Amino acid sequence: MSTPVNLLDLDLDGLTTWFESLGEKPFRARQVMRWVHREGCAEFDRMTDVAKALRARLAGQACVRAPAVMRDSVSVDGTRKWLLDVGGGNAVESVFIPEATRGTLCISTQAGCALDCAFCSTGKQGFNRNLATGEILGQLWLANRLLGAARDPQGDGGGEDERDNGRVISNVVLMGMGEPLANFDSVLVALRVMLDDYAYGLSRRRVTVSTSGIVPAMDRLREECPVALAVSLHAPDDALRDRLVPINRKYPLQALMAACARYLERAPRDFITFEYVMLDGVNDSDAHARQLLSLVRGLPCKFNLIPFNPFPDSPFRRSPQQRIQRFAGILVDAGIVTTVRRTRGEDVDAACGQLAGQVQDRTRRTVPIHASREAC
Ligand code: SAH
Ligand code: SF4
Repeated sequence: MSTPVNLLDLDLDGLTTWFESLGEKPFRARQVMRWVHREGCAEFDRMTDVAKALRARLAGQACVRAPAVMRDSVSVDGTRKWLLDVGGGNAVESVFIPEATRGTLCISTQAGCALDCAFCSTGKQGFNRNLATGEILGQLWLANRLLGAARDPQGDGGGEDERDNGRVISNVVLMGMGEPLANFDSVLVALRVMLDDYAYGLSRRRVTVSTSGIVPAMDRLREECPVALAVSLHAPDDALRDRLVPINRKYPLQALMAACARYLERAPRDFITFEYVMLDGVNDSDAHARQLLSLVRGLPCKFNLIPFNPFPDSPFRRSPQQRIQRFAGILVDAGIVTTVRRTRGEDVDAACGQLAGQVQDRTRRTVPIHASREAC
């Protein structure tokens, strides 16, 4: 028997083509998409408006398979983190951050990362492999189910903002483990499903890709699926950025800034978010802040300063709070909206850059507490 098709790997076009290859009508794709994603349904038997014979066929040839949850931790601040088994001794993490006005799910796109940024625990693990679309999307599918947020498939909602309000997961950020733009093809299909009205129906403004600055892939994203963009800047000049974010040697700051300007022509938001990790005595002086101002002059942008989150054996320290405030003040005084990221979920190692730093160890120590392979 051939391997079942994982429906989480397919966007609407892919699903339509697959149904056509079975001799089925294209509208079946829309029906099944709603069941799988909106309703969070993995059992074909429950898809009551799908013909019985087709349900039996689906049960034989398809499955809905998300990564298995190995550990589910809740922080004192409500942040929830899932450690997910992606096979072969690899695990990735997703984090849900509830806030008063929104719920953000941070998802991973690769097991490990090849880009080796100096301050990042994922980078220190090295690169294991790209996640498949079903593994990326599976994180959203799972979180939706586990948070009890899968929607009634009949509920259509209203306008864009109305639809997004009141959702448990209102925003998705590709800021977990890995570099999304280094796994472009799988990420692209996953993004299309996130935006699809038959699936999650998120607006482009509420889906953010974070990149360390792979310039050709930024251009491709702009063409193929412009969503909100965050760029991990971390240094105001090439010498320092070469050291902190080694991909800078290939795509230096001038090329990166030009790519940001091109992206804005098609972006759903009229600014780029720059992420800037605050490393004590490394990139956090007044002079660095002023250099940043000249670097981004003329480019509509916001800054998100991220206090460095330490992990075992990291050579850096977090900048003191006062230093961060002073740095932020220089940007704000120049008219740039600047936020300091509140560290969330530290007690469960769910803060930025701490994800799965010790996955291999943890994998050995933990026992699966929940499996999600219902239909396979
Ligand atoms: N690879 C992508 C997305 C994943 S990393 C990128 O680099 O943008 C998400 C964010 O966490 C990036 O801005 C990254 O620089 C930051 N980050 C990585 N390690 C960190 C750490 N130890 N402390 C704080 N932020 C960190
Ligand atoms: Fe990879 Fe992003 Fe970590 Fe750099 S910061 S090593 S690009 S995950």
